Amino acid sequence: MPATLLTDASRRLEKAAQYAPISDDATERLKFPKASLKVAIPVRMDDGSLRVFEGYRVRYDDTRGPTKGGIRFHPNVSLDEVQSLAFWMTFKCAAVNLPFGGAKGGITLNPKDLSKLELERLSRGYIDAIAPFIGPDLDIPAPDMYTNSMVMGWMMDQYSIIKGVRSHAVITGKPVSMGGSLGRDTATGIGAFFVINSMMEKLGKRPETLTVAIQGFGNAGSVVAQHLFEAGYKVIAVSDSKGGIYNKNGLSIPDVRQFKQTYQKMKDVYCKDTVCNVTNHNTITNEEILSLDVDILIPAALENQITVANAHNVRANYIFEVANGPVTADADKILEAQGVALFPDILVNAGGVMVSHFEWVQNRSGLYWKLDKVNKKLQSRIIEEATTIWQVARRKDVSFRTAAYIHALSRIGEALNDRGTRDYYTY
Ligand code: GLU
Repeated sequence: MPATLLTDASRRLEKAAQYAPISDDATERLKFPKASLKVAIPVRMDDGSLRVFEGYRVRYDDTRGPTKGGIRFHPNVSLDEVQSLAFWMTFKCAAVNLPFGGAKGGITLNPKDLSKLELERLSRGYIDAIAPFIGPDLDIPAPDMYTNSMVMGWMMDQYSIIKGVRSHAVITGKPVSMGGSLGRDTATGIGAFFVINSMMEKLGKRPETLTVAIQGFGNAGSVVAQHLFEAGYKVIAVSDSKGGIYNKNGLSIPDVRQFKQTYQKMKDVYCKDTVCNVTNHNTITNEEILSLDVDILIPAALENQITVANAHNVRANYIFEVANGPVTADADKILEAQGVALFPDILVNAGGVMVSHFEWVQNRSGLYWKLDKVNKKLQSRIIEEATTIWQVARRKDVSFRTAAYIHALSRIGEALNDRGTRDYYTY
């Protein structure tokens, strides 16, 4: 992980600040995370030995409300990465008008090396270490890469034990039986689908005429694939960390999902007779998928996938960032020069945190919503923000990324300015 992730992220801020009605004071303030916590988490392993893991929680900015953002378990987790992800969350929450600031957390480990019991001890140990830093009105974690509702359930439970009160609203993305919201598990993928479909509608494109390649077939990638498939888009390639499959006539996504669920790895999907009978496909690498000749490319895996090294190989007309930060700031320039229209992470994958907000609202009101209500609210809210970002891009003649940042920054800037700026004090 390059040590410059946060610097890379802040370059988007500087660019947007040129167009947004925001004071220099506010821009300066937003270059620094508000508070960063690094903790050591001792865990008793199943064999009796002790391992100490490093964890982080960063609260980037809370001008618009309590901070919000996921917790990831991944070997690449570092303070720099968590700070940049917290920066992105700040802009994401503002871009879609949630009453939250941005945060992120993580533990450096490969979760696949730990047993379920070890993972539970680790999750609870992490909350023991960060409990004073979080809270329903302070900072509200959620799932991110390699964490899920089970982990969120353990964490909420541990926080409640520490505080001596049931505190459902401290964490979102919980199991439904523990105060989770219906639809939270699919929200990122469905939200991304709503954004893609409404943008294609605005461009006058019909789904049947559009080919799609998706890098990453996890919780977000597989759901967006399913919805695009159902709407008539031709999904011709999908991959996971082990490799991918490709068929120029389109893949049967329901079959791929079913086989991926059964066999876990995409690599195994194309080797099993059953799926081979359903669809014809060739194998493709994760790198190759990025340079496929498709209309729509969806990076839905890790950050830093499209960089100066491979941006010029991209042949897609549209990129929708379902992962956080898959395209670097330098690659943005190359893609723009090539005429690629890129729709940014802080809009495209915001469905997850939007439904997290719905979950928090449900927890605090004690009234729980039907799935249909969750999805309808998600649809209208995310399309409304996408439409405004579209209009900002057209009006100011900037990329959709810059437009999304301008849109978010105007909201954060207003809240910062209302607290008093240099002008305010000079009168
Ligand atoms: N980890 C997700 C994200 O990056 C969700 C965060 C949340 O729900 O708070 O947007």
